[in-house]
Amino acid sequence: MPQLPEHQPLEANEVFRFHCHPGIPCFTDCCRQLELALTPYDVLRLKKALGLTSGHFLEQYTVIEFEPEDLYPRVYLGMVDDGRASCPFVGNEGCRVYNDRPGACRTYPLGRGASLEAQGDKALHILIREPHCHGFAEEREQTLNQWQNDQDLQEYNRYNDEMLAVINHPALLTGHRMSQKQADGFVLCLYDLDRFQKKVAAGSQNDTALLTSAIKRLIKQSFSSAS
Ligand code: SF4
Ligand code: SF4
Repeated sequence: MPQLPEHQPLEANEVFRFHCHPGIPCFTDCCRQLELALTPYDVLRLKKALGLTSGHFLEQYTVIEFEPEDLYPRVYLGMVDDGRASCPFVGNEGCRVYNDRPGACRTYPLGRGASLEAQGDKALHILIREPHCHGFAEEREQTLNQWQNDQDLQEYNRYNDEMLAVINHPALLTGHRMSQKQADGFVLCLYDLDRFQKKVAAGSQNDTALLTSAIKRLIKQSFSSAS
């Protein structure tokens, strides 16, 4: 049988073979030693699922990085110091936040590349056949569209795509790095929605409407002058 490529571009109706389930020998191996960047919508779902405020979730479960070479801050899920760098939500039975797991966990073993020109259904996908993952030896077959429906990815992709206009802000595209104050505002608006609601937003909105208005607010903001 010919060796299949490790990275394979996938069309919407292209069939691929993959199945992940609790009986597989590598079950939960991919939930360790991860660099898992969270999107604002990931944080919104997780903090609600855990019954935490956004501030408590960020404090307890994330690492916020804004390195000198970064133009804007990134929010990562903090791994547990258990000798295996495990995700804080992995247990013997699998993911303990399965219904609200991050978009990247839902998408895997696919990678999704969205841009301003190719978002929504037009985003590009590749299949990533990592050697440790036994799911490719299983019988189940599906198309990309079926996979996305099974993983309930529509909402995640929708809100994550709204972020494209922020990270493609003209100032950032010209290489301008946010000031620390702007970076703090970026995290407040997008990731700490409960505090944003109290401090900045007028009136009461549901979480997803608030996230959309926070994103719109950042798109309009000038990051080109330190303030
Ligand atoms: S490594 Fe692959 S098959 Fe194994 S648990 Fe992770 S996604 Fe599932
Ligand atoms: S959130 Fe769940 S699926 Fe994602 S890495 Fe953690 S345990 Fe695994």
